[in-house]
Amino acid sequence: MREIRVDLDAVVRNYRAFKARTSAEVCAVVKANGYGHGMHEVATALDHAGVDVLAVADLDEALALRASGIQARIICWLLGKDDDFELAAQSDIELGISTFDALEGALAVGAKIHIKVDTGLSRNGFARDDWHKLFERIAGMEIFGLFSHLSNTSAADDLNQFALFEEATELASGHGVTILQRHLAATAGFIDYPQMHLDMVRIGIGLYGLSPFEDRAVDWLSPAMSAHAEIINLKRISKGQGVSYGYRFRPAQDTNIALVPFGYSEGMPRVSVGHFVALADKRYPVVGRVAMDQFLIDLGDDEYPLGTKVEIFGERVPVELLAQSAGTINYEIVTRIGGRADRVYIQR
Ligand SMILES: *Cc1c(COP(=O)(O)O)cnc(C)c1O
Repeated sequence: MREIRVDLDAVVRNYRAFKARTSAEVCAVVKANGYGHGMHEVATALDHAGVDVLAVADLDEALALRASGIQARIICWLLGKDDDFELAAQSDIELGISTFDALEGALAVGAKIHIKVDTGLSRNGFARDDWHKLFERIAGMEIFGLFSHLSNTSAADDLNQFALFEEATELASGHGVTILQRHLAATAGFIDYPQMHLDMVRIGIGLYGLSPFEDRAVDWLSPAMSAHAEIINLKRISKGQGVSYGYRFRPAQDTNIALVPFGYSEGMPRVSVGHFVALADKRYPVVGRVAMDQFLIDLGDDEYPLGTKVEIFGERVPVELLAQSAGTINYEIVTRIGGRADRVYIQR
């Protein structure tokens, strides 16, 4: 009665759309269960399509991909103190290195490394004050990558980060460090700054067909995920009658209310207000509090048989509408969606 549909052909199509727009290698980011789309399914489809590189955040995700038979290069960059670098090296996982501890651990086991420099985001990466010490430590060595990540605050801020990234590159060269690949841009940077494609781009949200921008769509991408459930109850309620917890909705006239079994346990945000779902060829408002297992929609005087399918988001209702109704972004909705819903993968 609940279904998350993921179109793997759309993911591959999106990957190729990025490839067609750059001469850089395209690294497909499949962290966080492939942004909720299914890490193994997405990675396998891309591996078969000849993906250049796959990336995840955690080493455990990278090891799980390798264990499931993925042949492509795999990078991970969010490392914990107890991560097993020896196993990473044996499994041919490339490591994004942001601390001196991780650097020593990686060098000791001969792992392939990508050095991350902090150019302004103030998250992971070596701080600018440490760059000299860092490049002295790896002077004369060959590293797989040098990378950083943009804040997407403004063009001026992003360009400033790019300038600092160039500075880090020069410093590395000055110490005789050979860098095989430099990479900076994620989906937003890819679209806005062709000059920042460098040797590789790291594409996450765009791979799933979604825009990285809150105020702009990207018309050459196809959304891969849709969420569906069926109506399992429908009843007439009277004008003024309270609906769902807290009676936050009371209809202005008698109306038909339908129950959709998809709640916050499935990732439908409880704070959502003002979302619409698609039913037949119409849109109907979600009314009242979203509950753990279910929400309600107001059909007015329309009636549908039980079992009629509702699209919660997908082709007819953009996921961005649901995100806006909950004060968040498309990334958070797709990453958290699921719960008890069945997953159906579409691949021709
Ligand atoms: C998640 C992530 C990406 C992908 O970002 P999108 O905006 O989804 O394209 C790229 N690089 C790093 C370091 C990330 O953590």
